[in-house]
Amino acid sequence: MFKYVKGALGSILFTNPLNARLWLTYKCNYACGMCDIRNIGRGGEMSLEELEVVAWNLKRMGASQIILTGGEPLLRSDIVDIVKIFAPHGFVTRIQTNGGPHATEDLLSKCYDAGLDDISISIDTLDAEKQDRICGSKDVLKNAMRVLKFCKNNYSHKGVVAADIVISAQNFFELPELMEFTNSLGVFFNPCILTRLFSRPSEHGEKKYVSSFDLTRLNPGDVEEIFRSIEEYIKKDYKILMSSRMLSDLKHYVKTGEYRWGCMAGLLSFDIMPSGELSPCCDTIDAAFEKPIANFKYKDFLTQYRNEEFQKKCEDRRERCPGCLYACYRDPKYLVSDFFVQLEALHKSIKFRKVFK
Ligand code: SF4
Ligand code: SF4
Repeated sequence: MFKYVKGALGSILFTNPLNARLWLTYKCNYACGMCDIRNIGRGGEMSLEELEVVAWNLKRMGASQIILTGGEPLLRSDIVDIVKIFAPHGFVTRIQTNGGPHATEDLLSKCYDAGLDDISISIDTLDAEKQDRICGSKDVLKNAMRVLKFCKNNYSHKGVVAADIVISAQNFFELPELMEFTNSLGVFFNPCILTRLFSRPSEHGEKKYVSSFDLTRLNPGDVEEIFRSIEEYIKKDYKILMSSRMLSDLKHYVKTGEYRWGCMAGLLSFDIMPSGELSPCCDTIDAAFEKPIANFKYKDFLTQYRNEEFQKKCEDRRERCPGCLYACYRDPKYLVSDFFVQLEALHKSIKFRKVFK
C-alpha cells in the first residue's frame, strides 16, 4: 500500500507524474478493431541500456507508476530483464497484456519474480465469438481467462490483478455482467472508455471512425438502467478502478457526446514511445515526432522536457485536442484536484489494503 499512497501524495503535493505508459513495442499478435497500432510503427525499440536511462529519468521526475505496454509487451523476448530494470527503482510496475498464448505461466512467473507488482489483461466481453471478432484472432477469451485466473490465484498478494475492459458500444449493455464476473473472480475491473477511434489522421489526412464502437450512437433512454447498476456496484465496493466522477463523465458523454476537459496529459501522466520520445498521451503521438523532441533514452531528457518551447508544444497539442474520456489521464488530474475523488481513493485503498500493499 505504501508505494501507491506515496505516489498519490507525490502527485497531490508536488504534481509528480502519477503514471508513465511505456510502449515497449508496436508489435502485436492481435488486430483489434478499435486499435490502429499496426499503422503507427515509427522508430525502433529501445535496448536494455536505453531503458536503464528511461528508468533513471523517471526516477528523477518522481514518477510513481510505470505501465509496460505496447503493442503487446510480452512479445519482447527481454521482458523479464525489462521488469528487472524498473522494479528496483520503487515504481509500481505493471504489465498491460492481451493475455494471448505467448503469455505462458512460466513467463508470467518470471516477471513476478523479477519484481512485477500489477498486471492487467484485456477482456471486452464474455462472449467468446464476439471477443475473437473484436481482436481479429482465435481463442482470445479462453487465453485471457487462463492468464487472469493464473495471476489471481498465484500472485494477487503482489498487487493489482485487473481485467482491462475497453468500454464501447460493442459491450456497453454487458457491463453489469462483466462487473459481476470480475468481482466474483476477485480481480479488478479497469475501464478504458473509448471516445474517438482511429483519431489520428490516416495517410489521406481524414479522420476515420469505426461507428460500431461509438458510445454516442446508443439511445440515451436505453442506458439509464446500466448506469444505475454500475452506481450500485461502486456503492457496494465492487473492485472497480473508476472514480464516481469518471462515471458521471461517462454518463454525460453517452448522452451528449461532450468529452472536453482540462487535460493535463504530459504532466501527471504521459506516454513513452518504443524509441523513447515523450508523447502527452496515447492519442497525441504526432507531437512526439515533431521537433523539439524530448527523448527519455538520453540523460539530458529533463533539460529537454523542462524547456519552455517543449512545454508550450505539449500545451498547444492539448489545446488542439477535442478531448477524451481516457481514465488513465483524467483520473490522475481528478486525484490531484478533487477532494471527493481523494476521499474515494483513500476509502478504496483501505478497503482493498491487502491488495494495495
Ligand atoms: S491487443 Fe492491444 S495493442 Fe494489440 S491490437 Fe488489440 S488493442 Fe491493439
Ligand atoms: S484530452 Fe488530453 S489525454 Fe485526452 S486525447 Fe486529448 S491530449 Fe490526450
